[in-house]
Amino acid sequence: MIDIRSDTVTKPSAAMRQAMAKAEVGDDVLDGDPTVRRLEERTAELLGTERALFFPTGTMANQAAIAALARPGTEIFVHDDAHIVNWEMAGAAALSGVQPRLVRGAPRMTEPTLRLAIRHPSTDAPRASLLCLENTHAGSGGMVTSLDELSILATIGRSADTRVFLDGARLWNASVATGTPLSRFAAVADLTMVSYSKGLGAPVGAAIAGPATLMDAVWEARKRFGGGMRQSGIIAAGALYGMEHNLVRLEEDHAHARFFAEIVSAAPEANVVTPDTNIVMIDLPERMPAESLAAQAEQRGVKVSVWHASRVRAVMHLDVSRAQVEHAATVLRDLMS
Ligand SMILES: *Cc1c(COP(=O)(O)O)cnc(C)c1O
Repeated sequence: MIDIRSDTVTKPSAAMRQAMAKAEVGDDVLDGDPTVRRLEERTAELLGTERALFFPTGTMANQAAIAALARPGTEIFVHDDAHIVNWEMAGAAALSGVQPRLVRGAPRMTEPTLRLAIRHPSTDAPRASLLCLENTHAGSGGMVTSLDELSILATIGRSADTRVFLDGARLWNASVATGTPLSRFAAVADLTMVSYSKGLGAPVGAAIAGPATLMDAVWEARKRFGGGMRQSGIIAAGALYGMEHNLVRLEEDHAHARFFAEIVSAAPEANVVTPDTNIVMIDLPERMPAESLAAQAEQRGVKVSVWHASRVRAVMHLDVSRAQVEHAATVLRDLMS
């Protein structure tokens, strides 16, 4: 079976498991875990921030950042197709008492759509306290927002008195695709989230990176949400291994995505979104519901995900070879032809 539903399906390699098995550990809630410290220091160094804090999941990390940055009873600007809106169980409302102010923009937030979302200041209207950005943008198929564009969005947010959070679960991919250092992207935001369990191939984990002045609040939120972990060096070692070995190979996933898209595009009715990074979105003709295409592909040994009724998604990752990419794309092309 070739599983390209997501880059989260990767399994830890033998070498990664070895690194995890050998990890030096401590109690990270009591007096610290040395491997977690190393991971946090390395992450902060790469992102150019004073500190970073390890989390079990990107979702908890996003929610802790919102809790640390937004004020209850205010609005947060967030794209209507953002991970925070789609997949986090209304956490911002439930946990931080904020109202999402959905920013439109197909397929992602732009300068004019953000400007449109900003309310005219009035004593009768809610205020906003946070702007959430996402790079790469998962909902659009891993699209990159350039540093210039991201900076403009952040400036617009700040001019409306908000702080800025960057959901960078796949910021690694944005950096590799553009050649922009991670630190320059992170410098745009007050806090940045990165995930280790997507393209880097670690089994679990994410981090929030930012200045020391904000990290006490992030620590507090993590503890409140139940994210204080004990011998977490075991999983941090997998994340460290992923950063050290798999970051440099992300370009291969991007090349695989372009290759995959090129093959699938040969199906006359398929509308393939040209990939910026490792994700390929395929829009289908009306006669071919996404559910049935995905089911037929699975019978032929290829798993893709159903994004919505007329769109399937394929994601390249370190557990698929070029030959498997070619095979999977050919299966889809033939089913659609
Ligand atoms: C995957 C993802 C997350 C959440 O990460 P989990 O570790 O799965 O909770 C958040 N934001 C984006 C953009 C993601 O792609």
